[in-house]
Amino acid sequence: MHTLPELPYAYDANEPFIDAQTMEIHHTKHHNTYVTKLNDALSNYPDFQSTDLTDLLKDIESLPADLQGPARNHGGGHANHSLFWTILGGRGGEPDGLLGEAINSHFRDFTSFKHTFSNTAASVFGSGWAWLVINDGKLEITGAPNQNSPISLGQTPILGIDVWEHAYYLKYQNRRPEYIDAFWNIINWEKVSEYYTQSS
Ligand code: MN
Repeated sequence: MHTLPELPYAYDANEPFIDAQTMEIHHTKHHNTYVTKLNDALSNYPDFQSTDLTDLLKDIESLPADLQGPARNHGGGHANHSLFWTILGGRGGEPDGLLGEAINSHFRDFTSFKHTFSNTAASVFGSGWAWLVINDGKLEITGAPNQNSPISLGQTPILGIDVWEHAYYLKYQNRRPEYIDAFWNIINWEKVSEYYTQSS
């Protein structure tokens, strides 16, 4: 059984950049639906019920045909949101330490990194995510459609932004770039650094 994780902060912790109502609906309705539908799909496949979520996502093609779609969409949705909540609730700014150095060496400097990441997020067509991932030991920025998880591509996501309209529509309506700008103020870089250090 997969379960909806608690948020590590209150629904209003990201105000005014992401409003409390959006956080609550996003967590208790959208994320919860991914968890419920993943469990529903797994109810037909007892052999996979105790499989770790990361392991389910790593090799989707190896799963039974009827489980591949639910794993990609609902399993991906569950994994993506579970990571997303943990990298919010911070104070923004810039990362220091090893991650700060790695960003400077892969993207020249933080400003260039921020620019490329924001452009990638703004350019995702329709619903999807932009990610900072570790791929073959190197930092990369990627965009992904729907709930496709970078884990299914052999990558380790360490920072992501949800650009589905449900993530920002109440406050920003169609103004996705404003939501992306706001995102930089609430990143928890300590958490992202932790993910980087664990995986690199
Ligand atoms: Mn979402």
